[in-house]
Amino acid sequence: MSTPRLLYADGQGNILDHPGLGMAGSAGGRWEPVEESQCIPLPPGSELFLLPGRLPVGVDDSGEFEVMEIDPANGASNVSAVAAFLAPAHTATLWSAFQTRPNAPVLPLFAYAAVGLAKERMVVTAIRVDPLPRQDPDKFPPAQRLQESGRRLLRKFRHNRLMQHLGHCAMGYGCPAARNLMLGRWEAPLPTAGACNASCLGCISSQPDGPFPVTQERIAFTPSADEVVEVAMHHFTNALDPLVSFGQGCEGEPLTQGDLLEESISRIRARVPQGTINLNSNGSLPGVVAKLMDAGLSSIRVSVNSLIPERHQAYYQPRGWALADAVESIRVVKAAGGHASLNLLTMPGVTDRPEEAEAISTLVEHTGLDLIQWRNLNIDPEIYLRVLGLTPPQERIGVAELIDGLRRRFPKLKHGYYNPKLPA
Ligand code: SF4
Repeated sequence: MSTPRLLYADGQGNILDHPGLGMAGSAGGRWEPVEESQCIPLPPGSELFLLPGRLPVGVDDSGEFEVMEIDPANGASNVSAVAAFLAPAHTATLWSAFQTRPNAPVLPLFAYAAVGLAKERMVVTAIRVDPLPRQDPDKFPPAQRLQESGRRLLRKFRHNRLMQHLGHCAMGYGCPAARNLMLGRWEAPLPTAGACNASCLGCISSQPDGPFPVTQERIAFTPSADEVVEVAMHHFTNALDPLVSFGQGCEGEPLTQGDLLEESISRIRARVPQGTINLNSNGSLPGVVAKLMDAGLSSIRVSVNSLIPERHQAYYQPRGWALADAVESIRVVKAAGGHASLNLLTMPGVTDRPEEAEAISTLVEHTGLDLIQWRNLNIDPEIYLRVLGLTPPQERIGVAELIDGLRRRFPKLKHGYYNPKLPA
């Protein structure tokens, strides 16, 4: 069994490998040694982060954990831990192991996978959960081509505020879904909601009193049904393998725009009898979901950080709804013959605890869920654990092992990362 070498950052931000310490990882704050067999090469499109105010943790030859305080290269003490922000379609199985210095800054809203060095290349503790190439960096053409098709679309739809907003998302933020709309392929986003009925600890578009800087501007207007339908019809008419999705990172909760969605969906459905119309949501309003199914919605993806009510409550801070409503929304979609996914915001050492695994199985058994999307939860792990009132796990299954176990127990249940285009 071979162990990758520990990576750390020196005072200038250079990433170096430690001559004597092996790689370690963290699961909910519990440090674990890492074997090469648990790793994959760093996926193209991933980013490397230096973690300010965090000391790297490695494993010495006797298997003991060692907090690294001194740079072996120059004896300096300003070393930092490093982590990888994984490319889409990959789920971390262990996060970076570190020890936080007093007064260290809060980590921004990203996921921090463990990264090391093996056979002279960077490796991460992760698995690829979805083979679809939708957001693979090598599938995106040069920026110039994106700019050309984007500008062409924005000229053609200069009157449509939603298309203009998505043009900004694609060419300003580099949002993969908005880029795919500009490039005429796969899943197109249809954001509509400026408001939300929750205050997630890790909301990327709104942090009124949260500790984190937002990473995404929230849509500042409510598009009309005409604008929504026009964007959707352009995509269904022109794109390769099209599907459209309400509920994006740049908005609040789409179910708060129930009437707009109902009108838009029924008008799109009238012209596209077979197209996949999906809703990404916190699942808060099952009554509205039922109306949208009647209007022609195809599928729902309900996001949760946990299926343990108090952990969901602590993270989502829902206003006027609870986890049971989110589960009911899945049930409503299944009862209406639709496709239902769970967007499971995953953190090793939390999601793979035995009680979480049992709750996932209970949900699948009781709802007939079709797909679990294993998305990394983007958050400072120590703040997350503190808010959920969790200490490092005594026992955990392992993220990859949890998925394998669910595959055996529920052979029909799929696992992935992206919303599927449903068969006609
Ligand atoms: S449900 Fe979505 S939009 Fe609402 S607070 Fe949570 S992450 Fe933000």
